This record gives sequence, C-alpha cells and structure tokens, in this order.
Amino acid sequence: MVRELLEKARELSIYTAYNTNVDAIVYLNDEIIQKLIAEFGAEAVRRRMDEYPREINEPLDFVARLVHALKTGKPMAVPLVNEELQPWFDSHFNYDVERMGGQAGIIANLLANLDFREVLVYTPHLAKRQAEMFVKKPNLFYPVVEDGKLLLKHPWEAYRENDPVKVNRIFEFRAGTTFRLGSETITVPFSGRFIVSARFESIRIYTEPALKPFLPEIGQRIDGAILSGYQGIKLRYSDGKDANYYLREAKKDILLLKREKDVKVHLEFASIQNRELRKKVIYNLFPLVDSVGMDEAEIAYVLSALGYDKLADRIFTYNRIEDTVLGGKILIDEMNLELLQIHTIYYIMYIAHADNPLSEAELRNSLELATTLAASRASLGDVTSPDQISVGMSVPYNERGEYVKLRFEEAKRKQRSREYKLVIIPTRLVPKPVSTVGLGDTISTGAFTSYLAMLKEKGAL
Ligand code: AMP
Repeated sequence: MVRELLEKARELSIYTAYNTNVDAIVYLNDEIIQKLIAEFGAEAVRRRMDEYPREINEPLDFVARLVHALKTGKPMAVPLVNEELQPWFDSHFNYDVERMGGQAGIIANLLANLDFREVLVYTPHLAKRQAEMFVKKPNLFYPVVEDGKLLLKHPWEAYRENDPVKVNRIFEFRAGTTFRLGSETITVPFSGRFIVSARFESIRIYTEPALKPFLPEIGQRIDGAILSGYQGIKLRYSDGKDANYYLREAKKDILLLKREKDVKVHLEFASIQNRELRKKVIYNLFPLVDSVGMDEAEIAYVLSALGYDKLADRIFTYNRIEDTVLGGKILIDEMNLELLQIHTIYYIMYIAHADNPLSEAELRNSLELATTLAASRASLGDVTSPDQISVGMSVPYNERGEYVKLRFEEAKRKQRSREYKLVIIPTRLVPKPVSTVGLGDTISTGAFTSYLAMLKEKGAL
C-alpha cells in the first residue's frame, strides 16, 4: 500500500525553495564533549546554561546550549551570528562529512532520488560548492532567466561563481553517550543533533527580482510547492532592509505561484528562536498557504505566539497528546489551514477540517508513507532510490505506539471533534539511526506529496 502510494506521488511535479546550505557534520563522542567542558570549566558552562543564550556570540554560548541539548536529547538549532567565530569552530573540530543541508536542498534531493516527474528547486545563493551538493539526476532543475525567458537547468549547470555559501555545523549525538559536568553525570537520553546555523548578513531568503515574474509560469508547471527557510530571515539588516520587507516579498511569491492555478503550497515551519520573527512568519504566511508541517517543539511556540500561553505551557510541561490536538485545532481554525501535520518522535498527526476531500483512512495512509520514508532515511542515512522504501517497511513501530493511539482516541472522544478530521500514527523508529538530519523534512515531504497524489486521483487538485 505504501509502495503504491509512493508510485502515485512520483508522478507529481514539485517546486521547492528557499534554503540550502552546506552541512558540515561532527559525530560527537564523550571525549569531544568532555574536552569542551574542560576548556571552559563545568561551573561556567552550568551558569551559561541557566542563562540559556538564544544566539551564539562566543564559544561558551555554544558549549552551554550544546550540553543543554545533550541533557534533554532534544534536537535544537541555535543561530551563529558572529561570523568571526568560524575559525574557532574550524580549529576545534574535524568535520566528518559535508553534505546538502537546508530544507529546500534536502527536499529537492530526496524528491529527485525518488524519481518524481519534475523537481524544481530555487535557492537565492548558488555557489559552486553549494551546487555540487545536489544529486545528479535528470529530473532536477534550477530556474534561470536568460534573454527574458525561463530556462530550467540542472543546478550543476546553473551556479554563480561569486555567490556566498552558508555552512551550518551539525553535531550529531547518540543516545547513551555519557559524560560529566562537574559532579553531575549526564547520559544522553535520545539520539539527535545540535545545529549551529550560520546567520550572516550576506545570506538572504528571497526570490531574485528577475525570476519573480516567472513564478506564475512555474506555478502552472507544478502540482505543489514546498516552501521553507523563513527562519533564516533576520529582523534587521545593515542596508536598512528588515523582516517586514522580506516577508512582504515572501507573500508575493506565494500569490504569484498561485496566480494561474491554485497550486497547493506547503510551508515547513522550523524553529524560530526570536518570538517577534516567529509571530511575523505565522501571521504573514500561514493564512496564504494550504498546509503547514512542524515538529513537537514548534506547536507550543506557535500557540504561545498566538497568545495561548497557558496551553503552550501545558504542552511544554506535560507534552500530552490531548493538548497537542487542541492546539492543532486552534491553529487550523485561526489560520484557516487545509492541513496541519505535526511530527514528534513517537507519533505523527494530521489535523484537517471535516470537509477535507480525503477520508481519515486516506490521511492515515499518507502519514504511513511519511514515517516509512523517514525510517528508510534513518536506517540508510539517505534515500537514493524509490525501492529503498522497503527498508523502512521492515522497521517496527515504536513501543509507545499503542499507548499513543489510546490517548489519542481518548482525546478525540473527550473533545468536540465532529468538525475535524484527526488522524495519528505511531512512528517507525530506528533505534540507532545513521543520521537524524532531514528526518522531519522527509516526513513532511512524504506526507504532503502523498496527500497531493490522493487529491489528484480524486480530481480535487
Ligand atoms: P525534526 O525535528 O523536524 O527534524 O523531525 C524529526 C522527526 O524525525 C521526529 O519527529 C521523528 O518523527 C523522526 N525521527 C527521529 N528520530 C528517528 C529515528 N531514529 N527513526 C525514525 N524516525 C525518526
């Protein structure tokens, strides 16, 4: 069933933008962590952990947030704003692997590897080093404007020599790694990654002016668009431009894509540390898109930005499914979304209105494809062909799956749910994943494209 659904999804053409970067990966072990703590002293690290810096301005900010992530086992991303710290990182770590990073880049490579009909990827900065991170597939295109016409070229043929490159440093950690912080012994509870994301002036999230008039033409060619990277917008730039400017442009992009055809747009929401920016992204963009995907940490942050602080606090503190369901309902109602997808370590959930063209069973199949694809990626490190879906099919559901389903059914019974379609599935969880980078993006890509494929089959696209 999952295999057939993937076959259908592969007939689609998808556009994805905006963020790509080079991921430089470090596989952490106890020795590396212990050395970092020793360099600054456990007491200083602990004090800085209490301060919980939101950005990395100096090395101690990094160590404190890293140890915090290790202690909770939660995947985190913290912006590095001080460009001068790059040499500190490069002298302290050997990067084990360099590969494609950024949601748009990861999603484009995944769709191209899955042999989708046509994958159009746009990223405003495409240096050679960045272009080379794209897979060499004949179905993958980068839009270029030449002589007033839209041309589709492979990214390898479309790079621009002088574009800036964004390098994100990714620290992968494994469950069970044990280290000492002064007198405290810490064991990492879950495998995950800590991302130091480069947030520099030269990197912007936008569509270059020459390409903008061609977005309606791109919209006509495709069945759906997956947009992401808004977390990379800064509130202010030294040239006077600000988040309002870039979000106005982002709104125009969505409307232009939809101008000739009501193409479905999915927004993949990633962690935005700054509350003001988070709020702006939600209020400006959610009302214009059809579908939104996010992970467990985000739903609470989003609710808090919308003013539901009590509910957000409950989700942060207790992490109960019933609160997530309630929060999801609020979000699709207030933003009038067609579809909301929330992925967590133990389950994935869809929340839609009752008039959604797909049945709950069909929505469940879509999530099933999503978790199976993510399990394939977690097992292999990357998905390089459509038949690798079979790897994920043999990964069992996590052991909390039954409990999760029970709590969900309970929540559905207790709350008013007739106006909604609510489905949940437990995740297929790989105990020792090769890598956890891009798993959320894989889930959202599998979910949204299979959703589109079923809509198309019903004539609802
Ligand atoms: P994100 O935080 O957006 O990158 O999403 C990570 C998601 O990937 C989680 O919510 C899980 O659903 C999934 N995931 C995480 N670890 C594993 C694993 N070891 N095996 C399979 N799926 C995983």
